[in-house]
Amino acid sequence: MDERVYNFSAGPAVLPEEVLRNAQQEFMCLPGAGASILEISHRGKAFTEILEAAEDNLRKLLGLKDHFRVIFLQGGSRLQFSMIPMNLLRGRSADYITTGTWGEKAVVEARREGSVREAWNGEATQYKRIPTTDEIKLDADAAYAYFTSNETIQGVQFQKEPDTGSVPLVADASSDFLYRPLAMERYGLVYACAQKNAGPAGVTVVIIRDDLLGEVDSNKSGMLCYENHVKNQSCYNTPPTFAIYIVKLVTDWLIHTVGGLEKMYELNQKKAALLYEVVDASGGFYRPHAETDSRSLMNVTFQLPSDTLQAEFIEQAAEQSLCNLKGHRSVGGIRASIYNAMPRKGVERLSEFMRDFYKKNS
Ligand SMILES: *Cc1c(COP(=O)(O)O)cnc(C)c1O
Repeated sequence: MDERVYNFSAGPAVLPEEVLRNAQQEFMCLPGAGASILEISHRGKAFTEILEAAEDNLRKLLGLKDHFRVIFLQGGSRLQFSMIPMNLLRGRSADYITTGTWGEKAVVEARREGSVREAWNGEATQYKRIPTTDEIKLDADAAYAYFTSNETIQGVQFQKEPDTGSVPLVADASSDFLYRPLAMERYGLVYACAQKNAGPAGVTVVIIRDDLLGEVDSNKSGMLCYENHVKNQSCYNTPPTFAIYIVKLVTDWLIHTVGGLEKMYELNQKKAALLYEVVDASGGFYRPHAETDSRSLMNVTFQLPSDTLQAEFIEQAAEQSLCNLKGHRSVGGIRASIYNAMPRKGVERLSEFMRDFYKKNS
């Protein structure tokens, strides 16, 4: 394949073409730096400006008040499964709302660090839905309440954040970060690895309320303490400079080309509707994994009537440059990841393909 396809990969995932082109243009010599972004010091002026611009863009997009800190870390979202309890538990217990595979993995790691309660777990219903407010059994004394805003594998997404009262809300927003504005006043901490919706693999954005910062156990590595990264403006050690640069370009694109997160949300709702309409009009030929009011705008998951049809669907879609549609092995079926950077055109093409495939095979 020498031409770019429509890439429905769950992650690392599609990036805006404008971002790739800008990065290509500046790759040999970053303007003003006399060298490539790959070759310059993380403490020099050129990179410091990029780091500050990436943070400013995030602050602007999310309307972050001063009491929120923004840091760029490594270790992916997986390391956050551990860092969150290490930094926030402080001898107390935390509540976890588990709506899919990633939430499940987060609980496993949190248990290594201390006391964890499951305030809700959707495993018995195959993680097909988000709980109602009444179903979530919260502890008013919890150190924090944790949820996964979008479960990438199952394709279920919170339509609004759970109400946790005064307990700080912590969100794994890895696969829907920046897909719409966030009610940040509700959150204590939000984090996202970049490779789904915000940039390339290698950097994880953590936004944390400053009253939650503090020392961690002195027997733990300094790398695991949020406060060290905050105090050192993400340069406690050498940060992933290239990945942060791309996050800066992606957030530039969101601000200047897209026009902000309200606009992005509108576009995302319209894109997802193009696919769910075909699913709903197929009389059960396309069987959605998620219940209607828990559907994800980012990862559209559904099954076909047989494994044979599913294999044909994937193969014939790929012939039309609609690629990487195979669902995660644990859920099976099809998963179309239609993150911010997936152009509407790609989703239109997929929805047309789905209509045709249905007509021919139903
Ligand atoms: C991809 C993903 C992760 C894991 O991210 P890594 O960067 O590979 O550690 C965690 N949570 C969610 C919701 C994800 O989509």
